[in-house]
Amino acid sequence: MSEENSGNGRDQLLTQLEDARRRVRDLEKQVAEYADLEAPALTPAAALHKTLARVLKKACMILQAEKAVLLIYHRETGELVGQTPAVGIPDEQVHSLRLRATEGVTGQVFRNNEADLVPDVGEDPSGAGEFPRLIGWRNALIIPLIVESKDQDQVVVDRTTIGVMVVFNKRRGKEFSKEDLRLSRVLARNASAIIAEARLFSDVLERKTLLETSLESIHSGIMMVGGDGSVRLMNKAARAVFNISPTAEPTGKSYVEVVTHPDVVDIMSRSLSEQRDIDGEISVEDSTRFYHTQTAVVRDSGSISGIVAIFTDITEIRNLERLKATFVTTISHELGTPLSSILGFTRTMLEDEEGFFPADVRNEFLQIIEKECTKLNRLVADLRNMARIDEGRTLELHSGPVDLAELIRRVVAAQRSYATHHEFVVDMTQEFEDAQVVADEDKLDQVLTNLVNNAVKYAPSGGEIRVVGEAIEDGIRISVSDQGIGIPPDQLDKIFERFHKIETEGAGSEGAGIGLYIVRHLVELHGGKIEVESKFGEGSTFTMELPLAPPTSEPLGGSAAKARAS
Ligand code: ADP
Repeated sequence: MSEENSGNGRDQLLTQLEDARRRVRDLEKQVAEYADLEAPALTPAAALHKTLARVLKKACMILQAEKAVLLIYHRETGELVGQTPAVGIPDEQVHSLRLRATEGVTGQVFRNNEADLVPDVGEDPSGAGEFPRLIGWRNALIIPLIVESKDQDQVVVDRTTIGVMVVFNKRRGKEFSKEDLRLSRVLARNASAIIAEARLFSDVLERKTLLETSLESIHSGIMMVGGDGSVRLMNKAARAVFNISPTAEPTGKSYVEVVTHPDVVDIMSRSLSEQRDIDGEISVEDSTRFYHTQTAVVRDSGSISGIVAIFTDITEIRNLERLKATFVTTISHELGTPLSSILGFTRTMLEDEEGFFPADVRNEFLQIIEKECTKLNRLVADLRNMARIDEGRTLELHSGPVDLAELIRRVVAAQRSYATHHEFVVDMTQEFEDAQVVADEDKLDQVLTNLVNNAVKYAPSGGEIRVVGEAIEDGIRISVSDQGIGIPPDQLDKIFERFHKIETEGAGSEGAGIGLYIVRHLVELHGGKIEVESKFGEGSTFTMELPLAPPTSEPLGGSAAKARAS
């Protein structure tokens, strides 16, 4: 892989992350600025709320009014809705305050963006109808709340009316004046600015939280480092790569302190000092995990502001590559050995023009050739089956009644002829012998042959090979035990994986490591399960349980039973 990243192969994720990182930083800056707006001990939202309360109080004081409230327009309902904080009106009343934006003098102020002075309504029921009697209003100033958006040169580019400010009841029974109206416009501008900031703040916070959760949930490790080398962000996956506890806070520390891995430090320091993107590969945890490491320089209007490092887990890919390499070697060996034997015996007989070998010897040669061909046939069938399973195509079951006891005797007899120094014991209960099983006979033959053949292969010094058959509830259980080399405990769950072979002394190197992978698939296809127990150095027992019929076919007793009886 090329170290230099020209940018053409850069995946989309990285671009998004760079962008996200910059946005998070900007937003954090903004949030920090808002937080400093008022008393630093308060949360930014509480500080804005307090400032708003202060503006309203000041309005009441300057305008000599008893009450003041803000009504904000809700687009979904088309109403002007009361907002806390308010002055002189209890919070419950404020929250229940809802006026249609299309009606009344308040609605008119909102729609026309024109402040208005409502003189004493006295006992006038039409004027009093606008605000609930509960609020107890007599006269009022109603001012639109206008939010202005400005561009970089402070030129107003947009103006939105977000609601109205209502100041009620001039003190000492007096009326509001034209001068009051002018003053109230200035005060409303203050309130609008604060509301706009509060909205921006919650927007910013929401976007920041969204970005942070997205970064946290990404499977790749992501680390952002500033130009000064301090860690700005490290997501969960990145902390896991470097074994950093979830409670530790790496942010703010130097990356050299946080990531002690020499290769990572090297890649990151080069990327920072040479100001270029670098690709690499690292291994951690005693080379059991591999990560593709990619850095990207982040620039802010031309100058470098830091780097982003992404760690992608490629352990599975590396393991598969290793397994495939071993597989090719093994398969060449597996094909090569029987072929040279076949070739050797065939040539010997062809060259024997004088008839040196008597008929019984020639027969023996032919038997060896047949045995080797059978082995090759089985291997090719295994490879074909493995390919089908890998492609996601399940193998087809051709089910019918099977005499399992008979099948076991046949399989054992065939293996016995090859394994001369093993003692075979077949132990089957009467219920097992009588069990009426529906299955794919050829595939069960393959399963049993594989298990018994492994028992022979992995017990090179002989010993007992025991096949036990018993009936269980709704099915049967068959186990194959040997007194062979056994399986180390940490390998027990791996031997059913394809290509998995255990490297132990004394074990025959024969085998491509796909037998048990197919065995498990075939057992599961029948609706059964297979397990292994083993004592390393003492022997192993493979146990499989099968239902009386595969999940998709009828149990015996119906047409299958009749077929068997006929
Ligand atoms: P292979 O063709 O290599 O035998 P299998 O898939 O049948 O492939 O078995 C996978 C591995 O499991 C074997 O390579 C061997 O290391 C181990 N194994 C299988 N059966 C036994 C057994 N009876 N005793 C000990 N090890 C076994």
